[in-house]
Amino acid sequence: MARIGVLIEEKDGKVKRTNLGALTAARQGSVDNEVYALLFGDHAETCREALQRYGAEKIVAIRTPEPDPSAFPEMQAAALCLAMDAFLLDALLGVAGQYGKDMLARVASLKGAPLVLDCLEIDFSSGIVKKSHFSGKTTATLRLNGRPWILGIRPNIFPELADPRNAEILNYEPRIQEAKRLAIREIKHGGSGGPDVSEAEIIISGGRPLGSGENFKILRDCAAVFGAAVGASRAAVDAGFATHAMQVGQTGKTVSPRLYIACGISGSVQHFAGMKTSKIIVAINNDADAPIFSKCDYGLIGDLFKVVPALTKALGKG
Ligand SMILES: Cc1cc2nc3c(=O)[nH]c(=O)nc-3n(C[C@H](O)[C@H](O)[C@H](O)COP(=O)(O)OP(=O)(O)OC[C@H]3O[C@@H](n4cnc5c(N)ncnc54)[C@H](O)[C@@H]3O)c2cc1C
Repeated sequence: MARIGVLIEEKDGKVKRTNLGALTAARQGSVDNEVYALLFGDHAETCREALQRYGAEKIVAIRTPEPDPSAFPEMQAAALCLAMDAFLLDALLGVAGQYGKDMLARVASLKGAPLVLDCLEIDFSSGIVKKSHFSGKTTATLRLNGRPWILGIRPNIFPELADPRNAEILNYEPRIQEAKRLAIREIKHGGSGGPDVSEAEIIISGGRPLGSGENFKILRDCAAVFGAAVGASRAAVDAGFATHAMQVGQTGKTVSPRLYIACGISGSVQHFAGMKTSKIIVAINNDADAPIFSKCDYGLIGDLFKVVPALTKALGKG
């Protein structure tokens, strides 16, 4: 049996959905793993139901000297290291999103521990982890030696599977030495205004032919009908039609939604690197020879400016 810590992200007292999949990931390869959900702040009680439903046995509520720990990433990393020692954790696992990539790398560095980000498969019994490599062109199989391990899973790769427990809340106040060289003063969100692509179960993305930021409205209208997030290719971002927070791909975000709809996107390897693990890929493109048609599940040859509004109308009726 191993004790696995799962770094939990919450917003307004609600656990982020992708983090529930991390609880499932913490049980891979061994049914006996004891799962510790680690979260900062005062929301342990409000998060308890969701965390225990998906297998958390202990919820460690980490209270730092600063009331807003999110402003001090060094302090959070130091607190996580101390929590790992205090609760004898064999591994720390989180979602390799924007926050997780930063925090897990800090913890691995402080602990001198092996770090694997973008994990697609984990087997805690054998210590074997598979991760996406070279922008998704290959999958690397790694054997981890020593303990602890620091692992970041690709968002949405592990579906959340109910495994109900009665979780105990443990309040933990680490004695942190000075770890505040860096303070985050302000975070400016530059997304589409809708759900974040890393979290979304459905994404509709637009490419260069959208032609302007205003034209992205047809994607936003469609997304609103079925609760999707709006993404973009790098060509659309570089042209200033969409923000970088919306970019999917090698130099953007890695996503694994249930449904990915690519509108006017050619299907470059760099774009594919960020969305190839989507469960279903739909392409709308007016060029029958576009590379994306050889990589999608469903393809629609047509003008996106006609197809997307028609889709919005049809879905709106549903
Ligand atoms: C190091 C590096 C990193 C990169 N990182 C990324 C990344 O993270 N994400 C990313 O996306 N790219 C990335 N790129 C860029 C990538 O190589 C492509 O240039 C980019 O993905 C192309 O974007 P696009 O498909 O929107 O545009 P295009 O390649 O111009 O394709 C547009 C497509 O839309 C079709 N089309 C045109 N008009 C319509 C219409 N009216 N209706 C329907 N279809 C239409 C065309 O047939 C074409 O297939 C990277 C490149 C490099 C070198």
